[in-house]
Amino acid sequence: MRRAGRPAGPAPARPQRGLWPWPRRSEAASLLAVERMAIEQTLLIIKPDAVARGAVGQIIGRLEAEGFALRQLRLVRLGRDEAERFYAVHRDRPFFAGLIQFMTSGPAIPMLLEREDAVAHLRRFIGVTDSARAGAGTIRGDFGTDVQRNAVHASDCPENAGREAVFFFGAQAG
Ligand code: UDP
Ligand code: MG
Repeated sequence: MRRAGRPAGPAPARPQRGLWPWPRRSEAASLLAVERMAIEQTLLIIKPDAVARGAVGQIIGRLEAEGFALRQLRLVRLGRDEAERFYAVHRDRPFFAGLIQFMTSGPAIPMLLEREDAVAHLRRFIGVTDSARAGAGTIRGDFGTDVQRNAVHASDCPENAGREAVFFFGAQAG
């Protein structure tokens, strides 16, 4: 709320003294945050549902428009063993068998993407796991169907991004 007595508009200039001009606290915090952000790589897979519905071009276009640079890309048909190894962390989950069936059902497109803060930024950009609940404008919201057929995979932390990059791109990763 504006205090009574001061007109709307920019605050009057402060007098020159000491270390002025010095960034205000909020400006200093955001400058530090920018400095902390590193260029990272992360792995995205366009899953068989999105390849089958012809959404590859639109998905890659959105990623490029969001500032992700494409560093590696393949078209693969995952075998059962590969899919089980890739999703080994979910081996004991009730959805595992269905997930493996889905991921081996047709071609998929793993790619390495690079930008500032890539891992966290991409997770936000694709939307939540369940496409039925992912927001409009997110990749999962716009191109997926449900909690299994959700159009894309994205690495969930930098360690897994590195591991998953090597899984698909071996020595070419990084
Ligand atoms: N999945 C599923 N049923 C579930 C949860 C997940 O079929 O109840 C599938 C879905 O394709 C998801 C993948 O398993 O993308 C891996 O699940 P995770 O919880 O790691 O979600 P993500 O990291 O992909 O958002
Ligand atoms: Mg996951």
